Parts: sequence; C-alpha cells; structure tokens
Amino acid sequence: LYQQEADKKGITLRFISGPKLPEVINTDPARLRQILVNLLSNAIKFTHEGTVTLEVSATDHSERDSSVQLQVVVTDTGIGIPLHLHERIFKPFSQADASSTRQYGGTGLGLAISQRLARALAGDITFTSQPGKGSSFVLSMRVPVVGGFKNVSGKRSDPRPDLFLRVLVAEDHPHNRELITRILTAHGIRPDLVDNGFDAVAAALAKPYDVIFMDVRMPGTDGLEATRQIRSRITGHRPPRIVAVTANAFDEEKRKCFEAGMDSIVLKPFVVAELLRELQIVSAPPV
Ligand code: ADP
Repeated sequence: LYQQEADKKGITLRFISGPKLPEVINTDPARLRQILVNLLSNAIKFTHEGTVTLEVSATDHSERDSSVQLQVVVTDTGIGIPLHLHERIFKPFSQADASSTRQYGGTGLGLAISQRLARALAGDITFTSQPGKGSSFVLSMRVPVVGGFKNVSGKRSDPRPDLFLRVLVAEDHPHNRELITRILTAHGIRPDLVDNGFDAVAAALAKPYDVIFMDVRMPGTDGLEATRQIRSRITGHRPPRIVAVTANAFDEEKRKCFEAGMDSIVLKPFVVAELLRELQIVSAPPV
C-alpha cells in the first residue's frame, strides 16, 4: 500500500518479521488495519529521508490459553515530535503547530483514534520520539493464536497430524469464510466452500461430508432451511454432523437450530477450540 508513496519520497520501506510469529491470529482485522494505516501514513508523511520500518514480533507465548503478546512497531527517521506535544499526542486535535498543520495537513485525529482502537482490542499504543531524529510507535496487544507458528524460514514449527475429514463450510460472509477456512487448514483440513444454503444442500447431497459448518443467516435458503432439506433428502450416504454457526446466543435461536436438525452450535466470533471439538467428535471411533 505504501511502497509507491515511499518510492516517490525517496525513502526506504522495510518490513521485519520476528521469529516464531503465529500463522493466524484472532482479532478485529478492520481495527488492526486502521491502526497500521494511521501509523504508517504518519511515518511516511513526517519523514523526508531515511527509512520507515514496520516490525512485527510475538513474545511471551502462552501454551495455556494459546496466545501471544504481539508487538507492531513503526519506526521512522523523520522530523520527530516536538517535546511540547509528547504529553497530548493521543488527545484529539493535537498537532505540532499551525505551520506544521499548513505544511502537512491532517486533522490531529489519527493517533487519538488509533489509541482508542488499540484499547478496544485490549492493547495499547506507546511511542518514543526525538525531535529531528525520528519516532517509533509501538502497538502492543495480547492476541489468541490460531493454529501453529511460523519459524524464521516461514515453515510451521509444530506440524499436527492431518485429519482426513470431509468438511463443508456454508457461509455467505467472505471474511468469516476465510477465517474458518484458515483455522481448518491450519489443522490439516481443506474444507469445501459454498456461500449460500441452496449450494450447501446440493453439495451435501452430492458428497458424504463428515461435518458441515452452516451459517444460520444466509440470504435465500438460510441455514435452517438448508439443514431441513439435507436431513430430509439425504438417503444414499451417512448423514453429516451439522454445526450451526451463529452470532445469536439466545435460547430461541438454539431451539430453532436443533428443530431444523442441526447437531450443535458454535457462536461467532469463533473460538478455535470449539471448532476443533466438533471435528474431534466426528473423528472419534464409533462405540
Ligand atoms: P494528523 O496526522 O492527522 O495531524 P495524528 O493524530 O495522526 O493526526 O497526529 C497528530 C500529530 O502528531 C501530527 O500532526 C504530528 O504533529 C505528530 N506526529 C504523529 N506521527 C508522527 C511521526 N511519525 N513523526 C512526526 N510527527 C508525528
């Protein structure tokens, strides 16, 4: 995103990724992206020569709840932040001075918003800066890890046994589809994907799935209707385990899901362990 702008200004953009980064983390991508965009665009805006570096590292790995402390550091060799601004840089409408505003534009809102977003993600942003030398902003947040870790070579460090389960994901929301797919592929499963209930029914009739993760709310044939049809129309092969995926935790919703013929429910946002438990249930040998 920023390479062109950096090239135009003649500054170098560097990306450094630390060892043992999680393959996938569970967080709010829109908020995280917004923070990175704000920090990077400031760094490039206020730097006229030298380098802007984005460095990502993960420390303090916890096996217990499968999380890491993630640090994203944006460092620049730019104009730095005048000392009088250090106290209030995260307050709305804080800018260096009128001449700076004239020169660089901006609203003085970017950092205030970024810090709020970071705190909403249970993290924080801090900074150090030397006027005339440059600045460094650190986003730090504890994040749940999905799947394994990449070591420096980019390979997974803890391969797990592949499960040969046939899994279908029916989910109309691209982001959720991507997330659930990543979680499954991190565990050796390549799911088939459909984005509506009609196709889910067709897929389930055509192939004996072990598990179907079924979004409840989908336009057209919703997850409930698709499940009813699968339950009534599959005759030739073993019926799949159908897992409702829903953001609605009310009993009424659960009742509807079970009545339609679903076997269990996982709530959005997904907890990885819950998805995996569904897979374990069907991989257990029959008693
Ligand atoms: P905006 O950039 O829209 O003015 P921000 O809240 O992002 O608003 O930044 C507030 C002020 O902090 C900027 O106007 C600038 O004076 C200072 N600042 C932020 N990031 C940097 C940086 N990387 N280098 C120098 N000054 C910065």
